[in-house]
Amino acid sequence: MPNYPRYDKQALIMKILCVASEAYPLIKTGGLADVVGALPKATSKYGVDMTILLPLYRQVKEKLGKAKGKLIHKYKSLFGFPARLVQHEIDGVNFIFLESDNYFDRAGGPYIDENGQDYFDNFIRFAALSKAAADLAGGISKKYQPDIIHAHDWQAALACVYLKYGNEKAQNTKSIITIHNIAFQGIYGRTIFDSLELPASAYNMNGIEYYGDINFLKGALHFADAITTVSPNYANEILTSEFGMGLEGVINERSNVLHGIVNGIDLDIWNPKTDKALIANYDANSLENRKKNKRELEKIFELEESDAPLFCVVSRLTHQKGMDILNDLFYDISKTMGARLAILGSGERNLENDIINNAKLYKNMVGIKIAYDENLSHLLQGGADSIIIPSRFEPCGLTQLYGLRYGCIPITSRFGGLNDTIIDANEAAIGQNVATGFQFNRLSHNELRFSIMRAVNTYKNKENWQNIQKNAMSCDFSWDKSAKHYADLYKSLV
Ligand code: ADP
Repeated sequence: MPNYPRYDKQALIMKILCVASEAYPLIKTGGLADVVGALPKATSKYGVDMTILLPLYRQVKEKLGKAKGKLIHKYKSLFGFPARLVQHEIDGVNFIFLESDNYFDRAGGPYIDENGQDYFDNFIRFAALSKAAADLAGGISKKYQPDIIHAHDWQAALACVYLKYGNEKAQNTKSIITIHNIAFQGIYGRTIFDSLELPASAYNMNGIEYYGDINFLKGALHFADAITTVSPNYANEILTSEFGMGLEGVINERSNVLHGIVNGIDLDIWNPKTDKALIANYDANSLENRKKNKRELEKIFELEESDAPLFCVVSRLTHQKGMDILNDLFYDISKTMGARLAILGSGERNLENDIINNAKLYKNMVGIKIAYDENLSHLLQGGADSIIIPSRFEPCGLTQLYGLRYGCIPITSRFGGLNDTIIDANEAAIGQNVATGFQFNRLSHNELRFSIMRAVNTYKNKENWQNIQKNAMSCDFSWDKSAKHYADLYKSLV
């Protein structure tokens, strides 16, 4: 790992263009949005002037309302369709929106249509986003030119590739790719190559070629000046074939520029003392107020009212998140342990249906809402006793960090960032009063069941449980340290 230069207050202002497919609060499907939304403010005190380049999805357009913004470039044709780059300032954060109705003004989500199917043209939609980023670096607009491109995930990955094949200015612009989840790489057949408008030489082992196909993320891993991922543990894991998902070879070749920087959380948005989504606010000295939130959750999820533990899930309902295994434990949790479970999530249709049907067998004990509901996700953290996160892999994970902050004790596997952020409540940790959660090594029915059981047993001892809550709530996962880490990295590149 490289040495960083020391930060000094006289440092020049660095103009960073963050390129991403989501940013909270404008558009969010997962943790990527939280991170991109938080970075501009978090890094600003370290000499970073960050702008976010985001597609102008229909949902974002609606949020902007009548605000017109400032046109900074007009494309007659961006891969065949007209497009515009428009600057806006929203709550003190600079955005440039890529406006192209053909690509982004659609009824579904950012990646999938209303039936849950990937848009057939995602490759060109996100190639357009990436190309616009590289064009800005190449000086296409007099009004804005970044010093560094910071691309997030496969949707922005081609920005690092277009830079290398751009004009001299673009080629001289440094780039960073951040991997939020290596499971998503943007792999497409060879046949789309021509539509990307890259020179033939880009289709190469040292470019975007990948076993005869095209892999957007691989291109960035090859060309970016630095690679980051969202926790130190995940940075180590993706070097292995177990977690590298076929890209471990490329990442190993570039391990000298690989950094694991743990995500922070926005302490203003996630603050149980002031959170408007809660029925009752609280802090570590008024934990009894959580009960009012718990009562509200019991009503919302149609659960029996009880002081027994209430577990929750706030998650994409997917195989990665281990929801299939949890689904098999409803009997154990409700009948054997006498606990309740409230699930908020959406994701793979088959899994959603399995969970809905199974939950029907445990009326009043297991409640499920298939939805994406930001307010309810806050209330769950503020009222449930514990959040279950049985992921098969987890680059960083944010819900355990929100759980810690809200005293909603995480039960997690030991993968990725989950391992970097939780201290297991084993006897020694409870004895030394440092425990913050419950962990298990490998995802299996037995391991998950056992760790939930440990939580249920610990919950019976109110003093121990409250101590764990207080330890959790005193953890510092603010953006400060990580933001400085990013700023130091930017500085080392300019
Ligand atoms: P991932 O990005 O892999 O989905 P993270 O734990 O990093 O997982 O981030 C998930 C983010 O999305 C968190 O902010 C979490 O609160 C939020 N979230 C997930 N599912 C829902 C949902 N159904 N409703 C509201 N928020 C959700």
